[in-house]
Amino acid sequence: MKPAAFAYAKARSLDDAIRLLGEHKEAKLLAGGQSLIATLNMRLSSPSLLVDINGLAGLAGVRVSDGMVEIGAMTRHVALERSSDIAKHAPLIALAMPHIAHPAIRNRGTIGGSLAYADPAAELPACLVALDGEIDIVGPGGKRSVKAADFFKGLFETALGANDVLTAVRVPAATAQTRVGFSELARRQGDYAMVGLAAAAKATGKELADPRLVYFGVSATPVRARNAEAALASGSLDAAVKALDLDPGDDIQATAKVKKHLAGVLLRRIAAQLLGDT
Ligand SMILES: Cc1cc2nc3c(=O)[nH]c(=O)nc-3n(C[C@H](O)[C@H](O)[C@H](O)COP(=O)(O)OP(=O)(O)OC[C@H]3O[C@@H](n4cnc5c(N)ncnc54)[C@H](O)[C@@H]3O)c2cc1C
Repeated sequence: MKPAAFAYAKARSLDDAIRLLGEHKEAKLLAGGQSLIATLNMRLSSPSLLVDINGLAGLAGVRVSDGMVEIGAMTRHVALERSSDIAKHAPLIALAMPHIAHPAIRNRGTIGGSLAYADPAAELPACLVALDGEIDIVGPGGKRSVKAADFFKGLFETALGANDVLTAVRVPAATAQTRVGFSELARRQGDYAMVGLAAAAKATGKELADPRLVYFGVSATPVRARNAEAALASGSLDAAVKALDLDPGDDIQATAKVKKHLAGVLLRRIAAQLLGDT
């Protein structure tokens, strides 16, 4: 199938992009195009205008300062995968990258596009919630920052308004106490996950504090397993698996029963990563 006809405009600046979005009711931003173009081709979406933000200076790149890692929205997946700053200061994101699609898609796809699209089985939204990250948004009313936990509102639904641009994300830089873990189960390497788990915690020796266990592929948004977090913090992995408070539905990937079982399998793998046993 071919997409419905649409107009194209290359934004000259961030303000220009916001103006174009405001002037055209059915306009959409074009980042890497790896999700958008597929939905256009399948006629799941038929915007009247694509506003291309690929040429905007300052929207891409990784900066580390004042204990934070800032990643521009137009930073491609491949750049994150190859960044020594990400490997050192945001190792959870580094662990997740090879699981996102395939190299050709990672060459074009962007972190901003992934977060704005908010697929419930995507890796980066869960990582951002696990890291307690923040998302910067610029729109007609100016700039605001939203906690990752408040950004994902529902199925493919975020805190972004129709005329907003996601400009950057920020996560705390890893310290010597930071422990992270990432694992997912997918039918084939590069497929969206049946179930995945992104986790972060603070550790002193064998003790884990403040674990954040964020599942994806089990709900409309990334979801924290808070009862399991509490059990893990008190030192019992078996109790944490038992306490897993997830309520997945059946989907095309797997039944709810299978997903629940896989969530426990992932928790055991992740606990080993967090405790440095792998
Ligand atoms: C075969 C295939 C397999 C894939 N597998 C995975 C996978 O396993 N895991 C995964 O996470 N992803 C997967 N993807 C998606 C891929 O990661 C995309 O790159 C990503 O979801 C969207 O990023 P993009 O830059 O291509 O955004 P685009 O496709 O350009 O845009 C996606 C949506 O976000 C909006 N948008 C983009 N940038 C911004 C911004 N800065 N501010 C506001 N709105 C914005 C667009 O208007 C559009 O609605 C897969 C894609 C394909 C085709």
